[in-house]
Amino acid sequence: MSHDQRDVIVVGGGISGLTAAWHLKNAGVDVCLLEAAPRVGGVMQTERRDGFLLEKGPFNVIVREAAFERLLEEVSDDVEVITADRAARARYIYRAGNLHAVPSHPIALLGTPLLTTSAKCRLLAGLCASRRHGAHEETIDQAATRRFGREVADTLVSAAISGIYAGDTHRLSLKACFPNVWRIDTKTRSPLAHGLVSALARVAKSRRASSGNGRGAASKPRRWRGLISINGGLGELATVLGKRLGADLHTRCRVETIRATDRGYALTCTTRAGTDQPYACRRLLLAGSVHEAARLVAPLSSKAGSILRSIECASLIVLNLGFNRSDVAHPMKGYGFLVPRSEPDFPLMGMLWADSIFPHHAPKDRRLIRVFMGGSRDPEAASRTDDELLAQALGALRPLLCISGDPVLVDVCRYRAAIPQYVIGYAEKINSLRSALSEQTDLHLIGNYLQGISINDCVRLATETANQLIPPAG
Ligand SMILES: Cc1cc2nc3c(=O)[nH]c(=O)nc-3n(C[C@H](O)[C@H](O)[C@H](O)COP(=O)(O)OP(=O)(O)OC[C@H]3O[C@@H](n4cnc5c(N)ncnc54)[C@H](O)[C@@H]3O)c2cc1C
Repeated sequence: MSHDQRDVIVVGGGISGLTAAWHLKNAGVDVCLLEAAPRVGGVMQTERRDGFLLEKGPFNVIVREAAFERLLEEVSDDVEVITADRAARARYIYRAGNLHAVPSHPIALLGTPLLTTSAKCRLLAGLCASRRHGAHEETIDQAATRRFGREVADTLVSAAISGIYAGDTHRLSLKACFPNVWRIDTKTRSPLAHGLVSALARVAKSRRASSGNGRGAASKPRRWRGLISINGGLGELATVLGKRLGADLHTRCRVETIRATDRGYALTCTTRAGTDQPYACRRLLLAGSVHEAARLVAPLSSKAGSILRSIECASLIVLNLGFNRSDVAHPMKGYGFLVPRSEPDFPLMGMLWADSIFPHHAPKDRRLIRVFMGGSRDPEAASRTDDELLAQALGALRPLLCISGDPVLVDVCRYRAAIPQYVIGYAEKINSLRSALSEQTDLHLIGNYLQGISINDCVRLATETANQLIPPAG
């Protein structure tokens, strides 16, 4: 059987692999993307059902990275980028059987029942001036407690982090999870002063840009801000990128083994027909999940394989639940709510009010909610049946949102070992991984276990890695 010989092969067609392959193809590199599933997108999948638009994995993206903005620009002929409804600015935290608005300014902070008076005083004092980061790597909980006190760390901070990492603030590293926040934490005594100075700098920059005095791309006004999605769902972004790869995208093609050769790498793959299809390439980019990368890399470097295998990941369950509008008495106006670690008996991690954020996600006479379960809060959840998960979710939601009828739509998606946990020592682990792989010069890893888990982070790393593989012009 003849090899399909390429310059670059990308393994894995989630947003990381698609971004890298698209950049390479666009730059004229001979590239091919191999994806095990029948369609691209990885965890980024959208389904239309009964008039609902169901985001099965990620729901929205905060536009933060220039690389992600550029990707949106590049596909904007084929997809419509939409911004979240203003209503989505209101966010809630579950506490003692009720939902409380997250205070968004100092006056609201004084009135919130989420914190005791002494915790509010401690928070305000910490915002004005508090101790900087010391010499040792700290957990998010340690840093938040040092700055703002125990109650804020247990309530506001733990809830926010569970919504991002599905993890435990007592184990996650501030430096690894939020390097920008960590940098600020090492520099400033006053988070408030830092916030004010940064806000003023942003205003001055946007004035310069809109008055046309800015120079170069850095001062170009931003086209998208805040929370965005794609009109047809995030899965549409993946589909469009996949289509642009054309015949260089091979779906239903699972890479089974990788072997180093004197001309690069030889791959064996199981294809749709179940046959072993050989591929070969000079340079290889692995864009699958961390544990899949561990399996593929282990024969090349057992040390790298075991480091990758040792990376802990949280499992997550997403339930999309549709209801008749008349059956939900709660207005559900806002982004949704998160649950802090101080509420260990509540069975959910949190919930998004999907059609309040993007109204076209549900028909006018329906409501759509996205429930998150599992994470470090409930690691066993992924092994429960759909019926058990649904019963547990409805038991918690009915009294909270005053829901009378049964759901008209139920969709349960399990994501096993999907969210890498950037715990204390993570940066050292990734450094050891890089040095273990340093002899494999033309092997590159991308994905959410390296430099951040968000779609922004994945796109940035994939773009930077692809750029390294593109020969300089001229
Ligand atoms: C439930 C959930 C909700 C999330 N919500 C958000 C959110 O709202 N906003 C946000 O910014 N981020 C969110 N994230 C994080 C973000 O979506 C992911 O980190 C990101 O999409 C991961 O993309 P990826 O391409 O690196 O990996 P994946 O999406 O996991 O893609 C990997 C691909 O590789 C393929 N593959 C694996 N092994 C092989 C093989 N041997 N051969 C061929 N192909 C292979 C897989 O089939 C898969 O398609 C969420 C994550 C989850 C799980």
